[in-house]
Amino acid sequence: MPLFPFEQHPLYTWALIFVIAFGALTFPILFFVTAPYGRHFREGWGPTIPAKLGWILMEAPSPIGYALVHFRSEHAWDSVPLVLLGMWQTHYVWRSFVFPLLMRGAGKRKPLLTVLMAIGFNCCNGTLNAFAITELAPHLWTNEWLLDPRFLGGVAVFFVGWGINQHSDHVLRNLRAPGETGYKIPYGGVYRWVTSPNYLGEIIEWLGFALAAWTLPGIVFAGFTAANLVPRAVAHHRWYHEKFPDYPRERRAIFPFLW
Ligand code: NDP
Repeated sequence: MPLFPFEQHPLYTWALIFVIAFGALTFPILFFVTAPYGRHFREGWGPTIPAKLGWILMEAPSPIGYALVHFRSEHAWDSVPLVLLGMWQTHYVWRSFVFPLLMRGAGKRKPLLTVLMAIGFNCCNGTLNAFAITELAPHLWTNEWLLDPRFLGGVAVFFVGWGINQHSDHVLRNLRAPGETGYKIPYGGVYRWVTSPNYLGEIIEWLGFALAAWTLPGIVFAGFTAANLVPRAVAHHRWYHEKFPDYPRERRAIFPFLW
């Protein structure tokens, strides 16, 4: 099967091209224009909606779309696709339905535009990954892949990243008492080395998933995650230095000892 199967699967192929183009544009643009939500929220981006609702609306298409495509396939009950489904849902059920409800920062809002863009991306990304795994990747439909070093290493890397992401988000959440909206310097865990370990963990997670699945949409998503989060981590880092004169000097933005 070619990487871009226009003839056999035109919808899949066009959605994949859309995601690749979106990622390729995102990286340079985000270095100049920081996405206007959270601490970088500003007026001038059109109507806004409550941030918690925005998170649910924009993330939910990913686990739902992935599950719908997965369970339509005759490979839905094969071992490897089931493990990959479990990894995807472990991340996304939390991100869509638990993380937003735990967020602290009463009354925060998000531009509707950012929510709509994320919905478009997540509708494509969840379904593309499930389709590639269950319809286009015969290497994933035998139990031999369960012992392949790419699969074993990928699953391990995914859960290391997931742990870093979870712990780092947990630290941030506990910086605020319920009802508070301000910002403090986070300490502990991977904050010892970088400003945005939650983003670092997220990038590691999807690199692990890409390795374990060994499909083009998996690799594209890992690349997109880095393209999206590295510029934002750099913007967060600059913001902390401007706001806190005592911000730890040795901390890097996202990659320990490097950047
Ligand atoms: P941030 O680190 O900017 O914020 C996470 C939460 O912690 C927000 O509720 C934020 O409040 C709060 N917070 C952050 N810093 C502080 C601080 N110094 N003091 C007090 N509270 C703080 O992350 P994002 O909101 O951008 O992302 C949230 C999660 O979603 C992350 O785990 C990230 O990896 C993931 N994500 C993944 C993407 C991908 O491409 N795969 C894209 C975007 C996010 P407030 O909102 O008020 O700033």
